[in-house]
Amino acid sequence: MRRALAFAALVLLLCGSAAGAAPPAPAASQARSLWEVWPRVRVSPADPWALKHRELRVALATLQQRHPGLITLVEEGVSSEGRKIPALRLGHGPTGVLLWSQMHGDEPTATSALLDLLNWLGASPADPAAQQVLSKLTLWIIPMLNPDGAERTQRRNAQEVDINRDALRLASPEGRFLKALRDQVQPVFGYNLHNQNPNLRAGLTGDQVAIALLSVPGDEALTETPGTRRTKQLAVRVRELVEPLAPGRVSRYDMDYTARAFGDSMTRWGTSTLLIETGGWVGAEEAQRLVRLNFVALAGSLTAIADGSLETVRAEAYPQIPLNERDALTTLVVRNVRLVGGRALPPFPADLAFLVPGAFSGDSPRRREPSLIEVGDLTHLRGLAELDATGLLAVPWPTPPGDWAALRESLSSRGLLATDEAKLLAAVHAQGEAAVARPGFAGAVLLYRADRAGTLTLEGAVLRGRLVGGKLAATGQGVGSPTDWR
Ligand SMILES: [Zn+2]
Repeated sequence: MRRALAFAALVLLLCGSAAGAAPPAPAASQARSLWEVWPRVRVSPADPWALKHRELRVALATLQQRHPGLITLVEEGVSSEGRKIPALRLGHGPTGVLLWSQMHGDEPTATSALLDLLNWLGASPADPAAQQVLSKLTLWIIPMLNPDGAERTQRRNAQEVDINRDALRLASPEGRFLKALRDQVQPVFGYNLHNQNPNLRAGLTGDQVAIALLSVPGDEALTETPGTRRTKQLAVRVRELVEPLAPGRVSRYDMDYTARAFGDSMTRWGTSTLLIETGGWVGAEEAQRLVRLNFVALAGSLTAIADGSLETVRAEAYPQIPLNERDALTTLVVRNVRLVGGRALPPFPADLAFLVPGAFSGDSPRRREPSLIEVGDLTHLRGLAELDATGLLAVPWPTPPGDWAALRESLSSRGLLATDEAKLLAAVHAQGEAAVARPGFAGAVLLYRADRAGTLTLEGAVLRGRLVGGKLAATGQGVGSPTDWR
């Protein structure tokens, strides 16, 4: 036993160091001080989704007034619907860096972080890091490439084109504007700033991903070039910055080369590009914590380029960043029920997984309604909230929109608040295919407990992906806080 423990400790130690769990002190301490400075320099709103084109223009005008000479409006693109797309220049150093955010209109976290970054650069005359960024780099920033999409809180632009699949055809004015700016200023580095599906885990054993990183390849063979090596170093540095603040929540983005995507094309065109995807971090003030993490990632990694410390970062640590793990995290898992699955079949043991979709759709059409997403042995899947329902009987119940009180009322009128199993099963089976617990089922799942006499009493239910009823307590990081992505 002791030997096994010692071996386990050794494995942990080795894995820990191999995975870069102990980042160099300078990055960690710099991250801590940036994290602490953020509340003082922050100008972004509480809700990044509330920042639309109009609010962006007001915020930029305010920053220009507050810090005269810092921000030059160099170009203005024009969106499909005629909104002006500001492109800003800051600093006067030899190394050009192009950062663009919100090419997907419903992915706004980094836009807020960029505003905070602008204010940090202007409000920190005594901070050597901020001053080095301004003296060694020239930053080109497009804080909201897709204002028409932002206005509608949708991924695509007003043409309904995904700008991030338009790098070759350049059918969108927004894509043409980004390409023209890149060709004009020929930056060494690109930062492609997005939000991803919040229900991903950092590897099989990691937590909910808060930040995912990708050194964006420039060809199908994923050839390592001096440029992609630099963005691997940049990704490793961002991880060193963010991991101590968000342990187990940093991952590597899981996508190969996509020729028509902008990040890949930027790298191919000679601007080595780092993709930063913001995920989720369920709990109070989720959106603001994610903006804060983005701010640390941006300010800290730009500092590393500016002060030359990026060159000391080991690109070899890049593949050790855990990959995005899809289909391993969901909103709620109810475990160990006896399930009345429907179709007049006898009850059987099962776990149930529910998903409450996020506020944006990602790159494929997704369910917009909360629903049951999986049934069976779900030991591989983790819930942001979990309920051990051992001893409970679960019953699918098609239900019109309503709350727990309305649901209880309708069950009461049918004599189903306290009942026996035969009567309950008959009521379920009478509803046919409408009451089958299968992926996509969007009705309620009722949870009953039997007493010694065999009487079933309703204890709670899962309604629109949430546990309701008060008698049952879920555990996990999603408990007691909105699991909504916003
Ligand atoms: Zn995106």
